[in-house]
Amino acid sequence: MCIFCKIINNEIPSNIVLENEDFLAFHDINPKAPIHILAIPKIHVESFNEVSPETMKKMTTFMQNVAKEVGVKKSGYRVVTNVGENGAQEVKHLHFHILGGAKLAWSHLSDADPRNMI
Ligand code: AMP
Repeated sequence: MCIFCKIINNEIPSNIVLENEDFLAFHDINPKAPIHILAIPKIHVESFNEVSPETMKKMTTFMQNVAKEVGVKKSGYRVVTNVGENGAQEVKHLHFHILGGAKLAWSHLSDADPRNMI
């Protein structure tokens, strides 16, 4: 069982901010911003590549509610999901990072020169 399924099953503790029958949101253990929440579906879906539009529809509403719950809805925030090898996805259970609480940096994301792609 993956680590996020263990969190859903209460086998690993987490700091929950919002939950409903389909989704769970909890604080990232290694925050990269003053607010760093992970939102996950309770069904095991490996990544954004596999998620259904039906799940995403409900997840959108859930993440909007998470942003409100943690107080970043008005000030702004970033939603990120890493996919696969080049996306640097570590945990193979779909999760959206919800980052905020301060002005976020938007600098280079890889050591490859993006101008080489043009
Ligand atoms: P990613 O690189 O997109 O797969 O992100 C995985 C995230 O999960 C990282 O930001 C980790 O800090 C976070 N993480 C891993 N284990 C836990 C845990 N037990 N509780 C909370 N966050 C976790």
